[in-house]
Amino acid sequence: MWTLVLNCGSSSLKFALLDPDTRELQLSGLAERLGVDGASLRLDRDGERRTHDLKGGGHAAALDRLLAELSALGLLDGVAAVGHRVVHGGERFSAPARITPEVMEAIRACVPLAPLHNPANIAGIEAAQAAFPGVPQVAVFDTAFHQTMPPVAYRYAVPEAWYHHYGVRRYGFHGTSHAYVAGEAAGMLGRPLEDLNLITAHLGNGSSVCAVAGGRSVDTSMGLTPLEGLVMGTRSGDVDPGLHDYVARQSGLSLSEVTGALNRESGLLGLSNLASDMRELEEAAGRGHAGARLALDVFVYRLAGTVAQMAAALGRVDGLVFTGGIGENSASVRAQTLARLGFLGFALDEKANAAAVRGGSGLVTRTGTLPALVVNTNEELMIARQTQDVVTGS
Ligand code: AMP
Repeated sequence: MWTLVLNCGSSSLKFALLDPDTRELQLSGLAERLGVDGASLRLDRDGERRTHDLKGGGHAAALDRLLAELSALGLLDGVAAVGHRVVHGGERFSAPARITPEVMEAIRACVPLAPLHNPANIAGIEAAQAAFPGVPQVAVFDTAFHQTMPPVAYRYAVPEAWYHHYGVRRYGFHGTSHAYVAGEAAGMLGRPLEDLNLITAHLGNGSSVCAVAGGRSVDTSMGLTPLEGLVMGTRSGDVDPGLHDYVARQSGLSLSEVTGALNRESGLLGLSNLASDMRELEEAAGRGHAGARLALDVFVYRLAGTVAQMAAALGRVDGLVFTGGIGENSASVRAQTLARLGFLGFALDEKANAAAVRGGSGLVTRTGTLPALVVNTNEELMIARQTQDVVTGS
């Protein structure tokens, strides 16, 4: 039996059909430019890739095409459950939930907290309910893993009424990835997850760090929204909260335009004035581009500082995990970060670090020193496993 995992963005739909027990992947793909000209669906199966024109269709059209494909491949009757990535579950969800009308209401109630993401997730769920009638559907929340954070980690020092009336607190994101790589790292270290204090660094276009004590999140760098914390591709990460008002008055931009610029024109892109893509920046820095060099330096400086902050949250550190497109592939970001963190006990193994790229994984530090590892994240597998657990009640 197969689990279909759906990850819906506002104009995209990423999917995978897999067996959560054996990890066997039957079909995966990505629909892009949904609802606009050039909408297409890419299907990957057994190393072969095909692309279909969706003729401007939206999420429903993409799912209809997927359904036809599954039917043609004789896989349709094998779909036992559908697991949906849902970005924001607020304080209501600390675990995945089978989708019922009440759960849909609760996901809708979280829309003000994630106005760009949750509506797309809802559109995907509604389209999947229509496409797979009678098949159990499960919501897996990005925020749920972090609901174990204590108040010292999740409260902001703002008027208490903002927390009680508007839910202003830190929620954290990338929970599925942090939980997955922490579990994998424990396996690689040959120790029970319950005994380990790990710091996980998910570094991709969006980036966050998490302090994981005994398999539970106790702090993380993202907050009320995925804008807080580290420098990201186009997101600023932490800035002075006084910046918004100052820039708005100086520039004539509205507050929401300032927030938009902090989300889309900042981070690596803003610093380098060149690109948001780490690989491109590394190449440009190698050619002597000063902006690219500065962007890399600030990225690493903030990352090392945030890892140290997570170390303080944990009290004792048993390992650091790198994951995400940058964490899994940039040997130079890892090397520079660990060089700054030598005081915690890390000592780089240069050969192992250089080898841990493009799917390579494992330890990148010398034997006998505090371990840092590369773990390839697999959010689809984690969502499929959690979906299966909810459906089977285990
Ligand atoms: P993700 O959002 O997890 O797909 O990660 C995307 C980021 O990973 C982009 O900044 C990419 O430039 C970066 N990335 C992917 N491959 C490499 C590589 N070989 N070296 C450096 N950065 C990479």
